[in-house]
Amino acid sequence: MPDPSADRDSFQALLEFHVEAGVDIALDERPHDRFAEAEARAARGLPAPRAREESKQAADPPPRPLPRAAAGAPEDAAGLAREQARKAHSLEELEAILLGFEGCALRFSAKNLAFHDGNPAGRVMLVGEAPGADEDRIGKPFMGRSGQLLDRMLAAIGLNRSHVYIANVVPWRPPGNRTPTPQEVAICRPFIERQIELAGAEFLVCLGGPATQNLLNVKDGILKTRGRWFDYRTEAGRALRALPTLHPAYLLRQPLQKRLGWRDFAALKRALDGRP
Ligand code: URA
Repeated sequence: MPDPSADRDSFQALLEFHVEAGVDIALDERPHDRFAEAEARAARGLPAPRAREESKQAADPPPRPLPRAAAGAPEDAAGLAREQARKAHSLEELEAILLGFEGCALRFSAKNLAFHDGNPAGRVMLVGEAPGADEDRIGKPFMGRSGQLLDRMLAAIGLNRSHVYIANVVPWRPPGNRTPTPQEVAICRPFIERQIELAGAEFLVCLGGPATQNLLNVKDGILKTRGRWFDYRTEAGRALRALPTLHPAYLLRQPLQKRLGWRDFAALKRALDGRP
């Protein structure tokens, strides 16, 4: 009789292998044993299928396809996003629009929209790149270890989440925490730009290179731009002072760079106090 614990051990090992390989969501409702399918075809003398033919010819009913982004080409989706974002006259409306927006495929693999946290009336808005696993589960930005470090950095200048507003350039988690593609960023950009407009902060802190490059349209890396003040102008013409700084996740990996992060937060504090 087969030993059930051996099965459990091999399933556990397989699961661990997948997690280590970065596979952390299932994109289909049914698992497929590709080796068994290939062997069955070979036994029937059929050639190996090309990827597209395979699902057509499989004996099982075809898997239900993952929902696709409703808009076709990414440029259409970005145009649709801009049109939709402009319709929002409050953050509540913007969140409701994002909840119904199907133009970005990330929303179909994410568990939740991680729209915002903190105080929308705060003088400072901090923007990161995209939610990770904790943020996706909870539905708010900066909930995991990066968020804890961010809280400590804010505390060092006398602030907490009731004083600042927090969001991400991309509000849905990219599967496996991969970097959002330029198309995904282009589609989400009108929403974060509208969010900055509607929130009304005076200071915009861009957390890390991707947020800095996408919001401030700069090409330089974050080690060059951090700590420098930029002018940010919203579509309606409202001016904010923007400060790029190192992303807390980077600081967790490179703790020696924390002194640069502290320096930037000290500069933010001086600006908040109206000191040079
Ligand atoms: N990193 C980000 O850029 N955003 C989050 O919300 C969490 C981690």
